[in-house]
Amino acid sequence: MKLNAEHITDAIGWRFDNSYIGLPDYFYAPLQPVPVQCPQVVMSNHALATSLGLNIRALSQEDAALLFSGNILPDTAQPIAQAYAGHQFGHFTILGDGRAILLGEHLTQAGERFDIQLKGSGQTPFSRRGDGRAALAPMLREYIISEAMHALNIPTTRSLAVVTTGESVIRENILPGAILTRVAASHIRVGTFEYAASKGDAAAIKTLADYVIQRHYHDLIDTENPYLSLLSQVIHRQASLVAKWLLVGFIHGVMNTDNMSISGETIDYGPCAFMDAYDPNTVFSSIDHQGRYRYSNQPLMAQWNLARFAETLLPLIHPMQEKALALAEQAIHSFPEIYQTHWLVGMRMKLGLFTEETEDVVLIQNLLAWMQKNYADYTNTFRMLAAEAVPEGAVFNDAEFMAWHARWQERLSRQSESKLMSFRLMQANNPAIIPRNHRVEEALSAASEHGDYSLIHRLLAAVTNPFVDVPEHSDYRTAPAPSERVYQTFCGT
Ligand code: AMP
Ligand code: MG
Repeated sequence: MKLNAEHITDAIGWRFDNSYIGLPDYFYAPLQPVPVQCPQVVMSNHALATSLGLNIRALSQEDAALLFSGNILPDTAQPIAQAYAGHQFGHFTILGDGRAILLGEHLTQAGERFDIQLKGSGQTPFSRRGDGRAALAPMLREYIISEAMHALNIPTTRSLAVVTTGESVIRENILPGAILTRVAASHIRVGTFEYAASKGDAAAIKTLADYVIQRHYHDLIDTENPYLSLLSQVIHRQASLVAKWLLVGFIHGVMNTDNMSISGETIDYGPCAFMDAYDPNTVFSSIDHQGRYRYSNQPLMAQWNLARFAETLLPLIHPMQEKALALAEQAIHSFPEIYQTHWLVGMRMKLGLFTEETEDVVLIQNLLAWMQKNYADYTNTFRMLAAEAVPEGAVFNDAEFMAWHARWQERLSRQSESKLMSFRLMQANNPAIIPRNHRVEEALSAASEHGDYSLIHRLLAAVTNPFVDVPEHSDYRTAPAPSERVYQTFCGT
């Protein structure tokens, strides 16, 4: 009989091919996950597994629990904790995976490469004072929100499984522990570049940049200045990503440079949440006292982070410091316009517009201003516009809204596309269902406090099919009553 690790590797279909460990050894620490007492699978993502060419169903419950807890390692895994740094709320710190282990990189049949990481897997050389562990509710939050983001067509890391560990973690309360299996294009962050730059050795940053170009930006290899092109491409991907966040009302919550992925995926779901009533100043995170990462500040913070990224690339961009600085600054200063273009393209789709008129920006801003003044729900207002009927409900029975609506109707009639085409475009760009925070919290409490996962499964079914009006899911469309509103989310991770 085969050894269990080999059997599990074959059964699920792992095809590990680990390239990150080819980097110089100061980029990571090889080590094993710390085994847990009594692992049990509570979530497994069969759709994701299938898309990766994996078969979780081929494993027994026991073997799946051993695998996704890290108690048994696939025989082809080469587990490491990655080193990185980061600006946290503006302050530079050396960090690293303090509670995560990268098992390796799985190659799909199509040749796509994905990091497979266990989050909550025990202490590492980078744990500082942390216990290396994660509590169940935040790991389930990451699972729900990342899968919702994916369904909303927003680039994101994904969640393959959650296991409970049978151990407690001590935070403000004693909580059940858990481990999340995260799937990412890679876990290379702006902070990884800051870490390389902190070595004070130009070779380190070049090695990392070359690796990233090879892995994520292969088309840039033959450009005239691949490192400047890399900066420009990362700027484009982040501008597009953050525009998508704002278009659906998403607030990341902790946009530190260590939580900004070089591949352009949303990463590290901590105190993130979706906005209900439209208010550009919305902030949920309990640790964000200044509102640094509030909804409307996210583009500015992305640009700030990208400037930190640009600084690390300076020696590669041009041998003359002044020239390098000028080129990098020019790239960074292009961010607002690139962002604005993505946002406007997205907003036009949300309003069913196929053509471009200069006045569109004002039309959009007027709608948003009206929403803010009237505490209108962001998601529901757009979805209501995407219904063919004239919007109903007390909040729309308002002269200012009706005047806006008439202007919008006129605008629609100035394009040759039919109203039906506009509605189709709008239905595909205005979700009916987002993971509203009060429903997320409700589902997390049921699971974490009572072991009842039925709410999570129902919520997941709804948020992973967000653009279709499913009558059984209509309760998820209701905005929270004042008494249900969740004002703060906790890192409590
Ligand atoms: P995060 O806020 O999750 O992005 O984490 C920021 C940094 O703190 C990362 O380096 C994490 O690995 C580390 N960290 C967070 N929680 C823990 C923990 N419980 N034990 C050890 N390190 C942690
Ligand atoms: Mg992080």
